[in-house]
Amino acid sequence: MHALTIKDLQKTYPNGNRALKGIDLTVDAGEFYALLGPNGAGKTTAIGIISSLVNKSSGRVEIFGHDIDGDLEAAKSCIGLVPQEVNLNLWESVHNIVLNQAGYYGLGRRLARERSEKYLRELRLWDRRKDTARSLSGGMKRRLMIARALVHEPRLLILDEPTAGVDIEIRRSMWEFLQRINADGTTIILTTHYLEEAESLCRRVAIIDEGRIIEDARMSEVLRKLHREVFVLTVSGGAREVVALDGFETVARNDEEIEVAIGPGQDLNDMFAALSAKGVHVTSLRNKTNRLEELFLRLVENKNGDAAA
Ligand code: ADP
Repeated sequence: MHALTIKDLQKTYPNGNRALKGIDLTVDAGEFYALLGPNGAGKTTAIGIISSLVNKSSGRVEIFGHDIDGDLEAAKSCIGLVPQEVNLNLWESVHNIVLNQAGYYGLGRRLARERSEKYLRELRLWDRRKDTARSLSGGMKRRLMIARALVHEPRLLILDEPTAGVDIEIRRSMWEFLQRINADGTTIILTTHYLEEAESLCRRVAIIDEGRIIEDARMSEVLRKLHREVFVLTVSGGAREVVALDGFETVARNDEEIEVAIGPGQDLNDMFAALSAKGVHVTSLRNKTNRLEELFLRLVENKNGDAAA
């Protein structure tokens, strides 16, 4: 069963912007899917069309077999959307926001109360249910939007940048929550700017660039295309002496730090083995590369290479 089928989807905005130039995408039921791409690539437009907030110019979209052209209400009832922008009525109470959404989807009063309590508890907002949305922190508002999106128990949950601006601890707990509902059967599609997020959560990834899908594959396959990463190591015993490390491209940044590039066919174990052979003690390690940007760069280079060939 496919949760989502998109065929030759195109969108041109009234000002002539061609945001989507014909995308095809199939997401299986139960999948946890990442939609990645640089700013302006077309992710929000695609999500807007799937959740019927934006009109498409042409193409087809089916959600669990329901075509958004012929069967819009059924298609919509399968979807829960957590948008990028906070779109809560800030003067309304947390509890009412979720209850009203349940009403909007036609849930009876009792079920609406049960579900609201269930999701507000799971997202750790139950104690704040009488407060207005306005009084919540940014992370809480985002969690409230997730509770609101889940109250009708959609089969497909779509999250546009769910953890943007959310602190690390809350991000982790949101990840755990999303993994749990995915394990319980909800299909999830998310967009994110954090490769770590897509890497931790998603089995598959589609990458959009300039309105086209340039990659659609298993996460592990895509990560293999990251050819080179640069790590910054703090070492004891004089960074400048370590600099010649067999088989690695290295630079001393100062007396304590060196940069080591890990290329294709090399891994961190090889690097540590080479350092150990020199008796060097590493006290800390961080990744200098913005891996997401590096990945986009590689894919766009490959795409241009293919086009030239
Ligand atoms: P992303 O979510 O990947 O950052 P968007 O879908 O927001 O990308 O935008 C894709 C392209 O469409 C961009 O060039 C953007 O400027 C344009 N765009 C988005 N919304 C509108 C709009 N309402 N009117 C005109 N152009 C738009």
